[in-house]
Amino acid sequence: MRLSENFSLEELTASETAARKGIDNTPSEEVINNLKRLAAALQEVRALLNHRAILVSSGYRSPELNQAVGGSATSDHCKGLAADFICPSYGTPNDIVRAIAASGLSFKQVIREFDRWVHLSIPEEGQEPRKQALIIDRQGTRAYV
Ligand SMILES: [Zn+2]
Repeated sequence: MRLSENFSLEELTASETAARKGIDNTPSEEVINNLKRLAAALQEVRALLNHRAILVSSGYRSPELNQAVGGSATSDHCKGLAADFICPSYGTPNDIVRAIAASGLSFKQVIREFDRWVHLSIPEEGQEPRKQALIIDRQGTRAYV
């Protein structure tokens, strides 16, 4: 199912861990609604990154999958409100976080994680975008500046 011009439901629910461990990662209707809003946000990010291909490594995670990958119990991934991605033809995760943080895009959090990928989350429907930029690595969590 296509959720936006360049993002599909399959892409935002795919998981190597789920496939390997036989974990069901089927989203509910409510989650699919959030994934549509997430795909729209990713579409805007794609335009911001000069329309370069975004490679999503993790979108929706069912509670069982989230536990299997060691995600936070309150993770926005579990609501279909977050995606981890890279965009190597645009630049490094740092380049991407810098571009998103400086943009006028609406988002909840953009996080440079372990200098390897970017985590982007959007607010629940009707909530104000917090637009918080963070770095998470071995030293912990801090503001992106
Ligand atoms: Zn994430």
